[in-house]
Amino acid sequence: MHAEDKGINEECGVFGIWGHEKAAELTYYGLHSMQHRGQEGAGIVVSDGSQLKAHKGLGLVNDVFKHANFSTLQGDVAIGHVRYSTQGAKTLENVQPLLFHSQKGSMALAHNGNLVNAYALRSDLEEEGSILQTSSDTEVLAHLIKRNGNEVSEETITEALNQVTGAYAYLILTENQMFVALDPHGIRPLSIGRLGDAYVVASETCAFGQIGAVFEREVLPGELIMIDHGGLISTRFAMREQRKMCAMEYVYLSRPDSDVNHVNVHASRKNMGKELAKEAPSNADIVVGVPDSSTSAAIGYAEESGLPYEMGIIKNRYVGRTFIQPSQELREQGVKMKLSPVRSIIEGKRIVMIDDSIVRGTTSKRIVQMLKKAGAKEVHVRIASPAIQHPCYYGIDMSTREELIAANYELEEISNLIGADSLAYLSEAGMEKAILIDKTIHQGICTACMTGKYPLPVDGPKKPFYPACEVL
Ligand code: SF4
Repeated sequence: MHAEDKGINEECGVFGIWGHEKAAELTYYGLHSMQHRGQEGAGIVVSDGSQLKAHKGLGLVNDVFKHANFSTLQGDVAIGHVRYSTQGAKTLENVQPLLFHSQKGSMALAHNGNLVNAYALRSDLEEEGSILQTSSDTEVLAHLIKRNGNEVSEETITEALNQVTGAYAYLILTENQMFVALDPHGIRPLSIGRLGDAYVVASETCAFGQIGAVFEREVLPGELIMIDHGGLISTRFAMREQRKMCAMEYVYLSRPDSDVNHVNVHASRKNMGKELAKEAPSNADIVVGVPDSSTSAAIGYAEESGLPYEMGIIKNRYVGRTFIQPSQELREQGVKMKLSPVRSIIEGKRIVMIDDSIVRGTTSKRIVQMLKKAGAKEVHVRIASPAIQHPCYYGIDMSTREELIAANYELEEISNLIGADSLAYLSEAGMEKAILIDKTIHQGICTACMTGKYPLPVDGPKKPFYPACEVL
């Protein structure tokens, strides 16, 4: 399912490499493997030890770097970014990494996540005389680091990080140092790998596989890492809180071949399907998953229930995310082009349709209709995560509360609205059981969009689109 159909959009992906002569090219491949985390813009900043050079643009990684001359991006250190704008307009100046120059040197900044106090900090900075170039919340950190004309160092970054609140994974590059930081709750994923002697950092471990790097470890909540020619130094800039990894990374956002906080995404989705089968069995003939993000959960549901898993819906891989859908009629045509029912499998069957989540419900309705039109006798919808009833403030772009179907209707009503013969969601306990597999590792997940239990206070009154919310 494409993100624009689902109504959930990943926030961004970051990639960094230290100590490889082909740093820019490898960053390109790393970003390419994380294209699903942002399709609006991409960029790379490379350092040759004396100068930072950038190439960035709007669009997909391939499009942005189609005409890039990598011979001008020489250097053995680089950071890169794929962007989906959760904050800030879709303009070139907001495409990251952001690059800043001063008499004391240059700094590039790539950010995955969302600062919940960005609005207040921005106001303070503007009152003090700062002029911000972008509408992105990422720029705020750069101004905090340089506020007193200071050099970029472990001390100034630590001071700045202690002023921001929210979900963040930062990569900061100067001419001769790279800094890596993760928020004290570790809401967004960030891992370190090795490629020979080079250090590699990425939002998702699938990027390591892409370039032949080997996973080394997770960046820890509240950790600040400094890499330079002397090696890697780890410090802690804040008290480490209980980890609150975004549950939606497992449910929908991350690639199935990625490991998020030591748990493989495919395995966790399959477990969610199994738990769902235990909690919400169904009298049906076959199990069908909505491709691609629900396939793992559908396999799990089939395995646990003993029902056969069938490829009842096929996804057309060549319909791009940029497909233009200006009207409702064409939008419906768009889903028809993306998903096709396999009539010979569906006709006359009672189907358990597995989907990873429902946001607005419009796409679920169209898929149920599509299956019934193709001859399905019954369609029982089973959702492999708890109902989404609350917005996300930590970097995932979801619909507003008014648009979230589960925030406005009861289960039975939703089932009727999407035209299903029955509907059930996985419970919160079932999801936790499926994700938190290895109890020996410090684990914990954010479930705020499903439960309303926000692990971090949200800066309510100062920003109209940050309403007050329950704080754990
Ligand atoms: S609110 Fe939902 S989408 Fe946002 S970080 Fe928490 S689990 Fe992830």
